[in-house]
Amino acid sequence: MQFINRLSRWALSGPRAWLSIIFVVFIVLLFVYQSLVSPADNNPKDYVLPSSIGVSNKENITSPQVSSNTDEDNNYDSLVTTDPLQNVEKVTASIPSIEYVIKSGDTLARIFARLGLSRDALYSVLEADQEYLVLEPLLPNDKFTFQLDENGDLLEITRRIDISKSVSYVQHDGGGFSYKENIKPITYTQKAVHSKIVGNFYLSAKKAGLSDTNILIINDVLKGRVNFRKDLRANDAFDFVIKSGSIDGVKVGEDQLEALEITVKGQTYSAFLHSDGRFYDLDGNSLTPALLRWPTRKHYRISSPFNPNRLHPITGHPAPHNGVDLATPTGTEVLATGDGVVTRIATHKYAGKYIVIDYTGPYGSRFLHLSKILVKKGQKVKRGQVIALSGNTGRTTGAHLHYELHIRGRPVNPMTAEIPTTQSIPKKDREEYDKNVKRWILLMIKAQVEYEDVAGVQSDSPAELESTLD
Ligand SMILES: [Zn+2]
Repeated sequence: MQFINRLSRWALSGPRAWLSIIFVVFIVLLFVYQSLVSPADNNPKDYVLPSSIGVSNKENITSPQVSSNTDEDNNYDSLVTTDPLQNVEKVTASIPSIEYVIKSGDTLARIFARLGLSRDALYSVLEADQEYLVLEPLLPNDKFTFQLDENGDLLEITRRIDISKSVSYVQHDGGGFSYKENIKPITYTQKAVHSKIVGNFYLSAKKAGLSDTNILIINDVLKGRVNFRKDLRANDAFDFVIKSGSIDGVKVGEDQLEALEITVKGQTYSAFLHSDGRFYDLDGNSLTPALLRWPTRKHYRISSPFNPNRLHPITGHPAPHNGVDLATPTGTEVLATGDGVVTRIATHKYAGKYIVIDYTGPYGSRFLHLSKILVKKGQKVKRGQVIALSGNTGRTTGAHLHYELHIRGRPVNPMTAEIPTTQSIPKKDREEYDKNVKRWILLMIKAQVEYEDVAGVQSDSPAELESTLD
């Protein structure tokens, strides 16, 4: 008691009084400030992320995954630092790792400098990278992770390549860095679905879980065999198998259609995917039949090549030449270059007499300046069939055949376009193909059985069956 009395007398006498008051006020303010700035400072974690790192979601800090750099997008986003320059000043030894998002104009040297990392570290990492070349080029929004030790020196630099792969350079005892690859395996699941047509095919396929891309593929594969608008009846059944990939439960890429069976007017059409990316029937015959390169028996001189960038010689405006002109004398036999259906026969002021043919698969053709047409609209034609005689009709500077090849409605150079040339599965692939087909059919049968078991009664809900691939 005596001591406090003496202290207060000493503190409040003379000019010391002011100093004391200022000191006390300062201490009080400091307390207030601290409690405002760190309200949740009771974090029991071993490490503390500086408040300047853009942590928007506190839950992620407590998740132990964060410190081990998970590759999942959802975790990344919440830990990303958008302006590392600001953070650098506050980076302390307690930081487990720094996520860095590449901005345009970034260089490795600049990033290292910003993070306060030494030139030696940069050169050591680059030396290791010489054999792998995975650190550059730096693309905006790419993500790098830097792992530092308590002195702020680099222990590990990791670049995320994609959802399944990241690469790291890890400091080893000698001071240099070693390459490390972290690959997350993709898990593939096959799903067989049995369903019935309700309304139109598109809606039914959508309902059964097919993507637009896969519906388009089905349309392409069965074009010329099945008329999806006219032939399909309610309750016609279809089965398919799709393969989907995922990493840690996150879906990657698009579902791939592997097998399809559809029954139309009592007839079943099958399509199976081979490793060449094309579909074949049960017997291994291609569903996108081979095309002929030339629409004529002989190879005539090309008097004007395919040129999508051609400019009109007079106006200077774009006037693409969407086909090739073959210097055929009038009366030359013109051949269908694939199996298909004649969809148009017409006469045009400039194109003259012409034919449009829609082939099976994504292909189509146009033949212009004809003198005589030998097919009718709606007629099915075979590859190599004579469909017309060439001529000089429309606006021409001489007799020739203008021949176009379209893939999915877009003109391509018929002389160089990649077109199917084989008609069936090559012998060496046959075993692999048959094995796949067997597995797919089995899956589809199981899905059918399940459908009938579950449905029994009338049901239009698809039945699904999943199996994980090894
Ligand atoms: Zn032409």
